[in-house]
Amino acid sequence: MKYKSTRGYQAGENFHQAVLQGLAPDGGLYVPESLPSFSFKDYLGKSYRDLAIEILTPFMGTEDLARDAVIKGYKDYFSKENLVEIHETKDAYYLELYHGRTAAFKDFALALLPQFMRQSVQGRVLILTATSGDTGKAAMEGFKNVEGVDIIVFYPHQGVSEIQYLQMATQEGDNTHPVGIKGNFDDAQRGVKTLFMDQDLKEDLKNREVHLSSANSINIGRLLPQVIYYVYAYLSLVDQGKLTYGDPLDLVVPTGNFGDILAGYLAKKMGLPLGNFICASNQNAVLRDFFQTGTYDTHRPFYKTSSPSMDILISSNVERFLYYLTEDTERVKNLQEDLTNKGEFVIGEDIKDKLKDWYGYAGSEEEAFASIRKVLEEDHYLLDPHTAVAKVCLDKYYKDHGKKSKALVLSTASPYKFPSSVLKALGEEETFSDQAAIEKLEDLSKTPCPQVLKSLWDKDLKERPPIQVEDMKAFVEKIGEDL
Ligand SMILES: *Cc1c(COP(=O)(O)O)cnc(C)c1O
Repeated sequence: MKYKSTRGYQAGENFHQAVLQGLAPDGGLYVPESLPSFSFKDYLGKSYRDLAIEILTPFMGTEDLARDAVIKGYKDYFSKENLVEIHETKDAYYLELYHGRTAAFKDFALALLPQFMRQSVQGRVLILTATSGDTGKAAMEGFKNVEGVDIIVFYPHQGVSEIQYLQMATQEGDNTHPVGIKGNFDDAQRGVKTLFMDQDLKEDLKNREVHLSSANSINIGRLLPQVIYYVYAYLSLVDQGKLTYGDPLDLVVPTGNFGDILAGYLAKKMGLPLGNFICASNQNAVLRDFFQTGTYDTHRPFYKTSSPSMDILISSNVERFLYYLTEDTERVKNLQEDLTNKGEFVIGEDIKDKLKDWYGYAGSEEEAFASIRKVLEEDHYLLDPHTAVAKVCLDKYYKDHGKKSKALVLSTASPYKFPSSVLKALGEEETFSDQAAIEKLEDLSKTPCPQVLKSLWDKDLKERPPIQVEDMKAFVEKIGEDL
């Protein structure tokens, strides 16, 4: 399989080249030149890993490479034999994607990405990432002790939660290098962008046979592993007799950068009989408005909410979606240029016509909190704030359109990653430390906290002193010298 850019650049990159580059040279995102179609029905009863190998093989080129990545990447990474669990309530199925090392769904892709990179290069790869908390940790867990790869993660020293701080400061692995910066997330991100454009640094590293790369969510190597759990979930429901193969299954996805829901869309395009797509936003409802009006408009206030991974105004994977809707790279390029230059773009009626199975909804902070409370009371099931937004959106969709088919809600994080918000949702007025909040929440909900979070307080802290933003380059050079 060859890869090309959503904006037209086409040099015949293979999977591993596309992964290593991240962004295409024309600024577009890599997509496979064509999508394979699968007879997914034939895969009923397969384990998660075997299914993953089947699905990744055409994208990666050979089954050997797919098997190597899946077996090594997913080894000892999840606490469940088949990585996910499905929980049924009276309203929906919840696909729990939080049984991995960092208790959130980004584990699925970030456990494989390092394997793809290991497979792709001679010499070494140095990954640079800026994180507001979650992605950087998941990336380090994936990269830890993978041969030939090192990862530096810059996070805002004062800007992460207690849990996130502990996750950084207790990180294991000789090849992982988390460091706090004296600044906020935007400073960290800007700093990393500057480093990527620094030709001297690149040249210097290249002379040492070190290749600079990133792990951000536009990487095609992050998108494809997410297709697998949609297929696995659908087939599991068929296996359990909850669905008959061919029945539509609606998806409700708490959305930020649009990677997760796009993976569901690809699963459908490749043959999975999915139903409607319900794209769930929080108060930052750019996507709801986009689906309702056809205008993607970033001119609006930015809200910090209790579902921080959805606090996004520019959802970068929408570009790939536009590509699949139009299959016209020139048009995608123009729309993206409008976004860059004017802060908005408008799709035509022809594209809108292709969105008949898409619905955009949004849930406010109050609605999400009420939903956490209600689901715990009625279904004895604990939702995290992101999943709660999705549940709010599902309720709105049912109200508008009736309950015609079954729905799968993607549960993207463990509630214990956000214990204070969840407690607040349940009516606790006091503030707690994260550790006390976890205990209290376990008590209230009778749901155990994942061990990977609970054990954070027992680990050794090996924090480095925070650095100034101006010293990020020196930090990278120092690590580069020691490789
Ligand atoms: C990243 C993230 C999301 C959003 O996923 P996208 O692929 O960016 O749309 C939702 N919930 C959680 C917990 C996340 O970490």
